[in-house]
Order: sequence, then structure tokens, then C-alpha cells
Amino acid sequence: MIRLNVTSRRVSEMIEITSEVRNAVRQSGVRDGMVQLFVPHTTAAVTINENADPDVVHDMLKALGKVVPSEDDYLHVEGNSAAHLKSSFFGASELVPLEEGELALGTWQGIYFCEFDGPRNRRLLVNILPA
Ligand code: ZN
Repeated sequence: MIRLNVTSRRVSEMIEITSEVRNAVRQSGVRDGMVQLFVPHTTAAVTINENADPDVVHDMLKALGKVVPSEDDYLHVEGNSAAHLKSSFFGASELVPLEEGELALGTWQGIYFCEFDGPRNRRLLVNILPA
């Protein structure tokens, strides 16, 4: 298992980590199988979406902020319930097929670490599972 460090700089942020994951795959030498990504945090997530137009992730965060308001008479005393909700909306893991040593992502797909309670130093676990 490979641990990637991710540093967020804003409260909510989608940080593209495709090249870091690709490097981890190359270092493993595994050619075919699956890459499992896991975020060991309750206020962050991992997702896959368009990486061609940066406005897409901007719009996603904007829409998510409307669906999950930061203040809403939440009970959780830590005061970050919105971040917990957003984390579960996107989820803590992704599975990406590995084909001839490359991530089998679509042309416009990128892998994003999603921060919802930053800025913080975070970790992402990469498990490369040979076929
Ligand atoms: Zn909390």
C-alpha cells in the first residue's frame, strides 16, 4: 500500500491527484488489475470527474454548498457537520481499472481528492491490486 500526502489550502477544495496516482502505479510495476483509492478521513472524499475545464469542479463545489448548507441547526458539537455530509456524498473510495500499466480513465476523467474541512494535511491510501 502506498500513502500519498495531500495538502489542502481552502475549506472546500477539489485537488487533482491523477498524476500522483499514475506515478504510484508506475512504481509498482503492476500492468493489469485494479487501483483502489481510499481516504481515511471523515470530512474528505475521493471522486472522479472532468479535468479539462476547471470550471466543472468549481460548479460542483458551488452546487454542493447549496445542497449542504454550512449552517443548518446541526447537532454535532465540532461544528463541521456539513463537511461530514459532503464526505459521504462523494464517498471514501474509488476503484480504477489498470490496463497495460495505465489507469483506464476516460479522456476527460481525472481523480480528485475532495477537501471539505480544510486547510489540512491529509492522506490518501493507494492499493494496487494485480489481476
Ligand atoms: Zn466532526
